[in-house]
Amino acid sequence: MDGNGGMSGNGEMDEMKRYIEEAEKALLHTYNRYQIVLDRGDGVHLYDLNGKEYLDFAAGIAVFALGYNNKAYNDALKAQIDKLIHTSNYYYNVPAVEAAGKMKKVSGMDRVFFTNSGAEAVEGAIKAARKYAYLKDGCADHEIIAMEHSFHGRTFGALSVTGNPKYREAFEPMIGNVRFARMNDFGSVEALVNDKTCAILLETVQGEGGIYPAEKEFMEQMRALCTEKDILLILDEIQCGMGRTGYMYAWQKYGVKPDIMTTAKALGCGIPVGAFLMTEKVAAHSLSSGDHGTTYGGNPLAAAAVSKVLDLFEENRITDHVREVAPYLERKLEELAGKYDFIEGRRGLGLMQGLVFHKPVGEVIVRALENGLILINAGTNIIRFVPPLIITREDVDTMAERLERSLV
Ligand SMILES: *Cc1c(COP(=O)(O)O)cnc(C)c1O
Repeated sequence: MDGNGGMSGNGEMDEMKRYIEEAEKALLHTYNRYQIVLDRGDGVHLYDLNGKEYLDFAAGIAVFALGYNNKAYNDALKAQIDKLIHTSNYYYNVPAVEAAGKMKKVSGMDRVFFTNSGAEAVEGAIKAARKYAYLKDGCADHEIIAMEHSFHGRTFGALSVTGNPKYREAFEPMIGNVRFARMNDFGSVEALVNDKTCAILLETVQGEGGIYPAEKEFMEQMRALCTEKDILLILDEIQCGMGRTGYMYAWQKYGVKPDIMTTAKALGCGIPVGAFLMTEKVAAHSLSSGDHGTTYGGNPLAAAAVSKVLDLFEENRITDHVREVAPYLERKLEELAGKYDFIEGRRGLGLMQGLVFHKPVGEVIVRALENGLILINAGTNIIRFVPPLIITREDVDTMAERLERSLV
């Protein structure tokens, strides 16, 4: 269990290297990948082609909440595969009806549109907001306020509201009429609001941008402003949602309900699926027949995954478990921060944590990998902790031990 298993066989090492070389000839190089080939998973552990074990504190970027090789989840998918995988949205299917019903229940939202990814959920949310405003005044020049340091995805709509100029620059022009305010600075939002503002969009806890939770007062002020001016509050819960903060959706912690929300990542626990949800008021006055669509969205296989994931969240009391184990992770991270002066501190909510360094963390992450620990960054100086939600205190201890060995 020291993370060195399987490193001896030279033939095996070559096999991994060979796949990496092939990958670099066949796949478009849009990622600087870590130099391992992952082969299988079990619980909170992943194994590479050499059989080396890794403790996974990244969960495929906040996706595999229930852990790998979960039998109930796998069985549900296998049964659905044998029954029906796809039909298109011209017909009804049982898993989609059941999944949507369960999503309404856990979110308190009224209507669901299934997508295949997070970015597509954001696209749909933007279209719904623009249509809502269009139906009010017949104009097509509405504005959206998004946040600096935000991340909403790589498609054009989602990229246009992503507050990181580095991601946008080469691909201009973006969709127009997007303004950027500062997270937790209500004055900076107010200053941008005008008669054309149709929506304010933010992540309840910023992920990619560096693990910045919204403050309660900021959320309350935003809600009040949006209600007063009939502007739609869109919360992107793609990363911070699905139990990660100890609440099914992070906004539930604040008691601030959005008009539209997006969800993805852990929603299907590995099956590519996302959704945007809205209140009845927005649904009745925005997208209608012919306004939006998707070939795959909410197909029986994806919906069966969502349905089973939501059942397993309830059966295993995942949010209770997160609330119990997260303070222990916080304490461990704070201990590390207190011990090393190149670590500035910790921030985050629940099992969505960032350890902020005074220096780039790339080398630490590579060394952690060598020590059998999978971590990801969020920006140059921040290690991001988004483990499967089923981790135990012992897993936290193992993580802290392997991380500490990887420091300096
Ligand atoms: C990952 C992410 C997205 C994009 O989701 P994809 O499935 O990669 O398209 C959007 N918003 C947030 C907050 C995310 O973390």
